[in-house]
This record gives sequence, C-alpha cells and structure tokens, in this order.
Amino acid sequence: MHISPAGEDLFKRQGEFMRLRNIPGAKEAIADSKYCVQEPETFAGQWNRHFPKDQPLHIEIGMGKGKFLMELAATHPEINYLGIERYTSVLYRAVQKMELCPLPNLYFVCFDAARITELFAPGEVERIYLNFSDPWPKDRHARRRLTSPDFLARYREIIDGKGRLEFKTDNRGLFDYSVETVKDSDQWELAAVTYDLHHDETLCQGNIMTEYEEKFSALGNPICKLIAVPRPCI
Ligand code: SAM
Repeated sequence: MHISPAGEDLFKRQGEFMRLRNIPGAKEAIADSKYCVQEPETFAGQWNRHFPKDQPLHIEIGMGKGKFLMELAATHPEINYLGIERYTSVLYRAVQKMELCPLPNLYFVCFDAARITELFAPGEVERIYLNFSDPWPKDRHARRRLTSPDFLARYREIIDGKGRLEFKTDNRGLFDYSVETVKDSDQWELAAVTYDLHHDETLCQGNIMTEYEEKFSALGNPICKLIAVPRPCI
C-alpha cells in the first residue's frame, strides 16, 4: 500500500517516545538474566518445556519495557507468555521490573521479529500481540512495519489455526495501512476493528494499557485496535 504525502503525516510521530539511550551494562544483564531466554531458537517446537506448566503460548512482539505483558501474565496464570524485544536497552527495563516482581509464566527474548519463524514451530503460538508498533512512515521502510504483508506471512506460519493477532495503536496512518494489509491478505481476515477502543464496551473488556497507550491516551488520542484471525483453508 502506498502512503500519500498527506498519509505520511498521519504516521509521523515516530521517535517521540522511541529513542532510548544506550544503557551501559544492559547487554550483559540480559545475557545473565534468568528471565531472558538465551539461544531462543533452540526452543522452537518445545517452548512449553521452558515454562513450569504446559499451557497455551501467547507472545508480544515489540514489548518495550514490558508493562502490558507483566500485567497480562499476572492476570492470566493459565497462559504462558513470551515477550520479544529487539533492543537490549529497552528489554533491560523489563528485566529490572521482573526482578522486583517475578512471574513464573513470563519470559523475555532479545530478538529481531524479522526472524520470528526461527523461534517457533508451525502453529505453536496461540496469540500474537502487537502494541504501538513503530510506524516507519516512509514508503521505502514499509517492509519494516510489523503489520506489513511480509510480517503477516511470517505470523501465519507460527500461529495456531484457531489463534489470533491483536494490534493496538493510536497512529491512524499505521492503523489504516494495517487494516488494508489484513484485508488484502489471503492468509488472515479481520475479526474486529475499532477506532476508539476505550469507548468500545465489547473490545475494551479486560483491556490492559501498554506504556505507549497510557501516554497517548492521556494526550487525548483515540486508540485503534484490530483483531485478525487465520483465514480458514479452502
Ligand atoms: N509495545 C510497547 C508499548 O506499547 O508501550 C512499546 C512500543 S514501542 C513504539 C515499539 C517497540 O517495538 C520498541 O521497543 C522496538 O524496539 C520494538 N520493535 C520494533 N521492531 C521490532 C522488531 N523487528 N523485533 C523486535 N522488536 C521490535
């Protein structure tokens, strides 16, 4: 999908809260942390053996500092959660929180989601969360968006046939793009869409706010959410 110059403006906010300073010692702390899985590719197909209980696996891609996942994991002990974050400086903040309040059903992985299919066996993941993903407003960077057709195809490889993908953002340009990529996909279909999550009685039930969601909804930005499910095979 091409984004017009006007459309690009809708995307522009990338960087406001995103830039993180390099934190000395973060890389080493993550390599030593019992909450971060080292060599995560070796667990593909057997993630449940890494958790105390054999139960469904839900993941968040681009988890940031982990607020959403920590609250979700505390609320749902019957689910195993894995948080995936590319940058050690960001993940380090989540590790520090886990040290204060450990959860048996939550682990973190420092990994680039472009290689997500290396982490899981086909159908191993029951749910994927994408929250306030980086918008990458320039057309030439569109393939980096976590809702691009390439990423949707990777997610389809690892998702259970009865699973789902949930995506939240306040960035209307990115959201419209994501709705279109799901609609154009022959592997996914839209199950629900809202342009004002916090005033949607149904979709807001049990909603847990992410760090970005708190910041941007406090500024008055409506939060958009879509749920996508695998298209049934014909
Ligand atoms: N989800 C959090 C929230 O809603 O508060 C953080 C949102 S922040 C804008 C996006 C996060 O996704 C950043 O921490 C970034 O490093 C991470 N990210 C972006 N692309 C990624 C990728 N390809 N693999 C893993 N993490 C990625």
